[in-house]
Amino acid sequence: MLKKFLTVAIDTPLDTVFDYRWTQTATASLIPQVGQFVRVPFGRREITGLVLKVQDSSEVDDDKLRDVIELRHHITPLSSQWIALCQFAAEYYQRPIGEVALPGVPKHVREAKPASIERALKKIRTKSSDTDGVPVSADVDNSIQAPALNDEQRAAVAAITGSAGFASHLLFGVTGSGKTEVYLHAAHAVLQQAQVMGERAQILLLVPEINLTPQLEHHVRARFPRATVATLHSQLSEGERLRHWLSAHEGHAEIVLGTRLAVLASLPHLKLIVIDEEHDPSYKQQEGLRYSARDLGVWRARQLNIPVVLGSATPSVESWYHASSGRYRRLDLTQRAIAQASLPRIGLIDMERHKAPDGLSPPLMDALRERLAQGEQSLLFLNRRGYAPVIHCDACGWISHCRRCTAFMVLHKPERRLRCHHCSLELRIPTSCPTCGNVDLQPLGRGTQRVEEYLHTLFPTARLLRIDADSTRRKGSAQQAFEAVHRGEVDILLGTQMVAKGHDFQRLTLVGAINPDTALFSPDYRAGERLFAQLMQVAGRAGRAAMANGRQSEVLLQTRYPQHPLYRALQAHDYTGFATATLEERQTAGLPPFIFQALLRAEAKTLDTALSFLQSARDLMPHQDIRINEPVPMTITRVAGMERAQLLLESPSRTQLHAFLKPWMQTLRATKTRARWSLEVDPIDI
Ligand code: ADP
Ligand code: ZN
Ligand code: ZN
Repeated sequence: MLKKFLTVAIDTPLDTVFDYRWTQTATASLIPQVGQFVRVPFGRREITGLVLKVQDSSEVDDDKLRDVIELRHHITPLSSQWIALCQFAAEYYQRPIGEVALPGVPKHVREAKPASIERALKKIRTKSSDTDGVPVSADVDNSIQAPALNDEQRAAVAAITGSAGFASHLLFGVTGSGKTEVYLHAAHAVLQQAQVMGERAQILLLVPEINLTPQLEHHVRARFPRATVATLHSQLSEGERLRHWLSAHEGHAEIVLGTRLAVLASLPHLKLIVIDEEHDPSYKQQEGLRYSARDLGVWRARQLNIPVVLGSATPSVESWYHASSGRYRRLDLTQRAIAQASLPRIGLIDMERHKAPDGLSPPLMDALRERLAQGEQSLLFLNRRGYAPVIHCDACGWISHCRRCTAFMVLHKPERRLRCHHCSLELRIPTSCPTCGNVDLQPLGRGTQRVEEYLHTLFPTARLLRIDADSTRRKGSAQQAFEAVHRGEVDILLGTQMVAKGHDFQRLTLVGAINPDTALFSPDYRAGERLFAQLMQVAGRAGRAAMANGRQSEVLLQTRYPQHPLYRALQAHDYTGFATATLEERQTAGLPPFIFQALLRAEAKTLDTALSFLQSARDLMPHQDIRINEPVPMTITRVAGMERAQLLLESPSRTQLHAFLKPWMQTLRATKTRARWSLEVDPIDI
């Protein structure tokens, strides 16, 4: 009787893999393979694991081993390359392999749903059978939608597709320079090259925001009408997720687009990776496996020996650094792609000189009025949702603190609620002051709802639309809102960073940033870089189409610090100068990308528990080459009643840092503590 020993990855926080015994029975003729899913007993449960190894013996005693319940052979086993990717991510980010490999796999694949898998597979196969023999890229050339590339775009596509094997390309293109067109042409060329070689090919396109997937999907489908396109993001239904995942995994989807989680998709014929808006912090997962999809994308390209394209108008300074050291190849798009479109003029409104009791200064109001008169669209950017960040009592000084967090309760006027944005606590708005009974409670500061209210009184006939996390809670509502803007049904669009990212709004000619200064003096060393990128992005929404009357589109920033170098660089559209200065500062201060960091976070009922856990972690092992700072409370110390603290580890050598982290984490896992803790490698929020 044939007997095998399987090493299995299981989705559990225990940092280990598990051995099981498999014995052939008369009914099951298939033998186990690496990359297959298996049903196994785990504690008192039965769960699905992933086979990492198949061997003829095990180091575990035979009588301690439990038997595999069932092999799942409904789908093609995951490739050893994909498993290696998960193994790398697990090691690099210090998480168990099971927590990396399994959560991204659709529930219907993991759980016992062979019937739905069969159904989905059948659908995928019949769908692609009409294209069998008809190469997907054959009719791309006939496509009328593709504009002729300009010289810079053509050079970029040639560089991407001309490089044999692995290469990281940093596509540095000003907003509106036609980066999407470069991605699509490169994708086309790669699909065609594969076809000539008689191979199959898959292209992975990543965007930072779920809201950007429909726009990109639209372009992709228009350009590749015969290709199978799969989308992967967190808002798919289980049925959709199963179909799209399988279509990618079984190699049917030639083009896969998605958000950060798609970087871990199984793509057996992957030939090109594109990461759009590579600087975007959304590429970093902030819980569980805290990975950077950008970094994993680059690793994956290297592993597969294929090109990767990182696109941005404001690259992350890490990527900029790699480009200047020659590790990444820089490809520049210096002009807007549409001939008559030009970059907007960026003006600064000195708020020391202008009164703006309702948030909008007279010059900004005038500019809005003018655009309204011309029938053009305007966008107002305010990165603060709600009506007012806090309410207070003038009589006694009471202020709306959250009782569970070191934060204020935000006034949401239309919903008639106070909401904590950190712990989601909701309260009715008090009718009088809880301490002194004063009935005249005042909102302080302003969020998007309050500006919206004011705009209504200012421009009663204008069509206003607010887009933020509150206005787009319903599934599909964000999509509808963006479509209304594209159709020209909106005169003034108001929103948070949701409106700032890559949308190609054609009718927009004015952008106003209401209060960008708040990020200027943040303790977070990345705040400046983020603000610059955000403002450049939002500014880039203006003037993307040709202006009829030869006028220029305009961006107005309201600031108390018009002399600040960040605004000066922005005004000159000078990302290069900004990045160079930022890198110099980082080097002087000994910050990434010149050093490498890891952050241990702890939370507990008392700050003392959290801090003393971190202190003991600090003293756990000798660490000559690693600098471990003092444990400190986090800026927002209490969230949902838990006190939070952090410990920062730094080293000029990534290798040394990782050599330290592995044994350190093992010891930490064995440490008893009341604190809940987690480690983040390459943290972005410190
Ligand atoms: P980016 O992503 O660089 O901000 P997009 O890819 O959204 O820019 O392109 C901006 C606009 O320019 C789009 O409307 C696109 O259709 C158009 N465009 C791109 N390339 C060309 C080209 N070569 N000729 C004419 N229009 C182009
Ligand atoms: Zn009071
Ligand atoms: Zn709270």
